[in-house]
Amino acid sequence: MRILLINPEFPYRGGDKFPLGLGYLAGVLKEHELMVMDCSVADFSEKEVRRFSPELVCITSTTPSFRKACEYAVTVRNIVPDCTVVMGGVHATFRPHEALNYCDIVVRGEGEVTIVELVEALEKGTTLKGIKGVWTKDMKNPDREPIRDLDSIPFPFREIFPLEKYRIMSIVSSRGCPYSCAYCCATRFWGHRVRFRSPENVVSELREIYELGFKLVKFHDSTFTLNQERVKRICELIRSEDLDISWSCETRADHLNREILEVMKKAGCRLICIGVDSACENVLKRINRRIEPGVMEKAIKLAKSLGRGKGLRYFRSTGRNEKVREGDAGVFEKNEARSDTAFACYDISGHRT
Ligand code: SF4
Repeated sequence: MRILLINPEFPYRGGDKFPLGLGYLAGVLKEHELMVMDCSVADFSEKEVRRFSPELVCITSTTPSFRKACEYAVTVRNIVPDCTVVMGGVHATFRPHEALNYCDIVVRGEGEVTIVELVEALEKGTTLKGIKGVWTKDMKNPDREPIRDLDSIPFPFREIFPLEKYRIMSIVSSRGCPYSCAYCCATRFWGHRVRFRSPENVVSELREIYELGFKLVKFHDSTFTLNQERVKRICELIRSEDLDISWSCETRADHLNREILEVMKKAGCRLICIGVDSACENVLKRINRRIEPGVMEKAIKLAKSLGRGKGLRYFRSTGRNEKVREGDAGVFEKNEARSDTAFACYDISGHRT
């Protein structure tokens, strides 16, 4: 089947990151004729769509990119009226009715198994009834259970993406988050129970990324340091395999300590992004962050002490009243806070040891 994968542009900074979700879909659809349009790094080309004439178009979207996703759904339908248009990703998962105004099928939740079953059914012309995770205007199949063994999923098929356009390559070593912060959909999308890839599987993908020419890598796990023994093993393998990469990750302050930071730094970790939100206890409670401001302060100081920490960026998720500002100032401004953005970012590289 001829399948076109579209990543609509993200309207904010950071839109040039590799679209991992589509990469994974490409990985399981490898045997088909594939074409990718990553509109975050390249122009959408009507001419190319006409030339390729896809039978199936898969469009991913987050909430910020959803408007563009809908525009592309309409455009491809005008160019190739007979193609089937599928939408997936976070926004389509949680707002399938909205998405179905523009497409034929929504794939909800993790897509790797669902898309294979869907393509098979479309090829054979059999019913979509019973394909878990699939919604159409008049069919709401049950949700698909999360994929238990993440090592069983083929690596993202990166080679068909415009690799020269990405400065940093993305990877994810686990799915899920045990927390339920009020503003975040990670737990609802990926599940409460965290599933981990084995360190060997992760590092074998890192090797592939390295051989594709990337030296900068970003881990997209919700909380990379949740299982510290596993992180230690990943770091050990990065070093024993001599992978000369610099990498970053996101985590929570309550899952950091000196030992793990030192191990990560030795294995090339250059940046830790610590979700902060606020230093006001009340705000943290209201957003169900389940963390004390003091714990964040401790972790930030620790990260700073390990590198050349130049600045702290943080985000006030709710309110701008005096109390919030007081709280933030108390913890963060004395730590050289710079601006209101989403994370406390610390360069912990210092000198490589
Ligand atoms: S810890 Fe992070 S990923 Fe998990 S729910 Fe909170 S914000 Fe989302």
